[in-house]
Parts: sequence; structure tokens; C-alpha cells
Amino acid sequence: MAHIITTAMQKGGVGKTTSTANIGAYLAERGAKVLLIDLDPQGNLTRGLGINREDLQYSSYEVLLNPAVDPSYAIQHIGEAGLDIIPSTLALQGAERELLNEVGRETFLREALTHIQDKYHYILIDTQPFFGTITQNGLACATAVIVPVQVEVYPFEDLPQLDAQLELMKKINPVLKVAGYICTMYEAITNLSHEIEEQMRKKYGDLVFQTVIPKNKRLAEAPAWRQPINKFDPHSKGGKAYKSLTDELEAKYGWKN
Ligand code: ATP
Ligand code: MG
Repeated sequence: MAHIITTAMQKGGVGKTTSTANIGAYLAERGAKVLLIDLDPQGNLTRGLGINREDLQYSSYEVLLNPAVDPSYAIQHIGEAGLDIIPSTLALQGAERELLNEVGRETFLREALTHIQDKYHYILIDTQPFFGTITQNGLACATAVIVPVQVEVYPFEDLPQLDAQLELMKKINPVLKVAGYICTMYEAITNLSHEIEEQMRKKYGDLVFQTVIPKNKRLAEAPAWRQPINKFDPHSKGGKAYKSLTDELEAKYGWKN
């Protein structure tokens, strides 16, 4: 059975998509079978890995809303990265409203994934910065959540709200737990980065990954070249950091069994 890991953070631009793409890529590099699922209509994960959204017949929208569609139809292979992805299209924008009156609307993705999850060691889900029904679908099927926290004041201050929402999700998904909080866009020369890191470790202890992700322009450039960082620039500070973060994640979950 796959480990299903989703990102969650209601704040935008904190590194959810960057973390999903690069952790997925490093897991795949080691031989794990990895499926990424883009649950954000913006499609940054999809576009950043080189999938052309115009040509898609099936996407996460159909997987979520049409139980008659076999979810494997929506899977695309990112050859060079050795990754699979269920991409998103703009159609997903309408899904929030369409799901509104559906009974059991939070667990549609969970149902769909039962058909494909045995093929993968890891399924990594990228969510949008909004805690609506689509994001809840990610959380309802996940075994664990990764929370990227940009080491600035507001993302840190918003964490209690996220923690409360995760607690609520346990009613639908009792096995849900936090895999870890990631300090992202870390700037070693600023006091604020150190201070927020310290406060996070004080608050969450071992649940904060030891590895911090530095602010590194190569991480921001990689999507423009449609590549994860392990292909684009593995020797960059960002590349090394995501590799080491993936080591930590693997030590927690493992996949060679
Ligand atoms: P959204 O909530 O809009 O989906 P997000 O949480 O997924 O945002 P990302 O898209 O991963 O955040 O990152 C926001 C922007 O910052 C992107 O342009 C990305 O390339 C850049 N970025 C992410 N992580 C880093 C980093 N460690 N150093 C420098 N730039 C980064
Ligand atoms: Mg994103």
C-alpha cells in the first residue's frame, strides 16, 4: 500500500508545490514508484514538470468528480524524472462549487485512489492555499501531511488554525498524522529565519524536519525549465537540501518492503 502524503497550508507561496515536486523526484531517483497528484487549479506542479495542460483529456478534475472515469486514464509519465502525475486543469476551479451539495464529498478522491494505489510506493498530493473541499479530499485519503512553513511571521502565526483544521479532518480520516513541518525559504543570515525555526522546534519538537530548505534561486528557476531540482541542478543548495529532506522522510516511512 502506498504512503499517501499531502501538503497542507492555507497560506500561499510557502513552498508546497516546490516541496511536492522535489521530494517526489528524489524518491523516484532512488527507485520508488511515485505518483504526484495536482489538486490545485493553478497547475503549478503540472506546468513546472513540463505537462502541457491544453492537450489533456483527463485530469484530477475527472478523477475527483467522475467515478465512471478510470483514474489510470489521467496518469501521465514524466519520462526523464521517472515520475507519474495526475495533472490539474482549470476545470478544477469549478469543482469546489460542484462538490458543494454532494454527499460524502470529502472522500471522492479516496474512493478513486483505491483502484491505483497498489501500483505506487508513494502518492504525493499538492494542494491549493485554501482549505476547501478539494483540499479536504487530499487530507481525507492521506496517511500523512507535510506542512511547509516559510520562516516568516505570518505563516508561523497561521499554524494553530491549520492544526485545528487537521484535527477536524481526523473525524473523516482517523489515521491522518503530521509527517513533518518544513522550514522553507530559510535565509541563514537573517535573525528572523533563526527565530522562527527556533520557535517551530520549541512548539513541534521532532515533528520539524532537521533539514531546512534555504531560499535558493535555482529552486525558483527549475520550473521554468520544466524540471525538478535533481535534474536541473542537483549540486545547488536547494537540491542538496531537498535530497537530505527526502532522506529524513524515507527514514520515517521507508518503501523497500
Ligand atoms: P501556492 O500556495 O500559490 O500554491 P506554494 O505554497 O505551492 O504556493 P511554491 O509555488 O512552491 O509555493 O513557491 C512559491 C514561489 O517561490 C515559487 O515561485 C517558487 O519557485 C519559489 N520558491 C519556492 N521555494 C523556494 C526556495 N526555497 N527558494 C527560493 N524560491 C522558492
Ligand atoms: Mg502551489
